[in-house]
Amino acid sequence: MKLAELFYSIQGEGKLVGVPSVFVRASGCNLRCSWCDTPYASWKPQGENVPVDEIVRQVASYPANHVVLTGGEPMIMPEISELCAALRKIDRHITIETAATVFQSLPIDLASISPKLSNSTPLGSEFAAAHEQTRLNIPVIQRFINESPDFQLKFVVSREEDLAEIQDILDQLSGWYNSDVLLMPEGVDATTLASRNGWIAEACKASGFRFCHRLHIELYGNIRGV
Ligand code: SF4
Repeated sequence: MKLAELFYSIQGEGKLVGVPSVFVRASGCNLRCSWCDTPYASWKPQGENVPVDEIVRQVASYPANHVVLTGGEPMIMPEISELCAALRKIDRHITIETAATVFQSLPIDLASISPKLSNSTPLGSEFAAAHEQTRLNIPVIQRFINESPDFQLKFVVSREEDLAEIQDILDQLSGWYNSDVLLMPEGVDATTLASRNGWIAEACKASGFRFCHRLHIELYGNIRGV
């Protein structure tokens, strides 16, 4: 699998925030979010092809029960099924982070679904039309909800009008509770996050959704391998 990076850290986002985990970042994505914080796995994918057994060997070398398969878009990696099965064999808890534009049934524990809002479209770029056409796939999101042992719906929020768009998406989905929905401020520095935290926290109080902290930014800043 083309691998951008593999590292051991603390989960910074979502239901498992704070849990020590090994992150396996696949390189390559079918979207091009304007604010992508891992362009080395999407806009300009970097990395080498690493065999699945070597990835599993590296995961097993860390004292963590939890593994996060992320990207890029791990769901488009040809080896993703083989990797999940191998990690299952060594009893790891598997989270997959996906924009949920493609589905396949995998032996995972948590689907971290991050549907992309219109704020992600890279206006003016050659990728804008393809991104806009691909970024939201309601039937695929619904399958992740229906067929995953656990899931979270994580929305990246940068402007107040995003809230109505999120509600419109949720209205097309079933099987979720308010506590499955996370609103995460978009930003990769403390100043930007602070400018959005307040009104997003109030939106969470008004809706019953969860506020999604970005703990890794606070702990380490916006650097690779953390
Ligand atoms: S889906 Fe994720 S990895 Fe792909 S471009 Fe968007 S933010 Fe980046």
